Amino acid sequence: MKDDYFYQTDDIPPIDNEHMQDLLENPPMLCGDEWDCPEDFEGKKCRCILSVFPHETHYEHYLKLVKHKIESAFVDLIQKDN
Ligand SMILES: [Zn+2]
Repeated sequence: MKDDYFYQTDDIPPIDNEHMQDLLENPPMLCGDEWDCPEDFEGKKCRCILSVFPHETHYEHYLKLVKHKIESAFVDLIQKDN
C-alpha cells in the first residue's frame, strides 16, 4: 500500500529543504482550512497531505516551519509597536 510508506520508519526519505521553503512561500492547497484537514478514524492524515508530503516526518517538519514563521512574524509585530 502506498499510504503505508507515509508512516513507515524503515526508509524515511531525506527532507528536501528547498522544497520545504517552496512550500512555505507557496502553501499547498488543502481541503481543510489552516491545516485542519480531518483525520480519519485511525488518526491517519488526509489524502491531500499525503499527496504533498512523502512522509509524515516531512509534514511535521513543515508544521514546525510554519509555526516558526508565524511566531517570528508576531515578534516582528511586537517589536514594531515598541
Ligand atoms: Zn485534506
